[in-house]
Amino acid sequence: MIAGVTAPSTETTDATAEAPAKRAAKAVKPDKVGIAAVDAARSGLLELVDAADVGDHLGTRAEDKRVVTHYFDCRRRGYRGWRWAVVVARAKRQKTVTVDEVVLLPGEDAIVAPEWLPYKDRIQAGDLSPGDLLPTDDDDPRLVPGWLSDGDDEPEVRAVTLELGLGRPRVLSLEGRDLAAQRWYDGDGGPDSPLAQSAPATCSSCGFLVRVAGPLSQAFGVCANAQANDDGRVVSWDHGCGAHSEAQLGKRSLPQPLPDPVFDTTSTDQLETF
Ligand code: SF4
Repeated sequence: MIAGVTAPSTETTDATAEAPAKRAAKAVKPDKVGIAAVDAARSGLLELVDAADVGDHLGTRAEDKRVVTHYFDCRRRGYRGWRWAVVVARAKRQKTVTVDEVVLLPGEDAIVAPEWLPYKDRIQAGDLSPGDLLPTDDDDPRLVPGWLSDGDDEPEVRAVTLELGLGRPRVLSLEGRDLAAQRWYDGDGGPDSPLAQSAPATCSSCGFLVRVAGPLSQAFGVCANAQANDDGRVVSWDHGCGAHSEAQLGKRSLPQPLPDPVFDTTSTDQLETF
């Protein structure tokens, strides 16, 4: 008998949530005739599948009054860990059963497809190709409605609102802002990256740090050093790298000047001639 197949199976894990189901399962009295009908279940199964695909009888499960499921090992290639489930039922006051249903079910060791994940949740940063579209949901928690225009604004008013970043239908929500800040801080542009750990000083004192506007400006800026790994990327103020504007080489690290060349005018060199 394999795990998860009992006779009858009445076990549940969550006593509160499963209480009604447990009570219902307890009320099912195993049908002795159905439990004993192993041969009838196997015969019904063999009418549908090859005998070579059917293995040992694994157990039974009482489904309802006079309804029992018999499980058989599946030996079909590619279905390791699967089991045949044959449901037999008995009519009232009858002493024989009939085969109602035959299905193939995955067991605990079965190889099954992973749980479905919507495509939009599978996309990672960097997956988008030119021409791809990734629409955001109307209720995306990272966005909230922004300042909306009725279309009758003066051109001067509209120019100012656009300059202030207000002319967008939606803007970053607090949640969206916090998610971005945490992601940046934990990423390669944060203080814990290997580059920052061995930096001579932090970005906050670097001349190549460009300040940004808005609330994120209190912790982040943009690196503008063409020689730095993070050029053009958001970095936290406590990030840093060896290309810091004030980085200095120690005296020992400076290249040592070479001595003047010496001309040997007293010895001769043997040269091969061709
Ligand atoms: S050069 Fe280095 S230290 Fe300077 S802003 Fe860029 S990442 Fe920060």
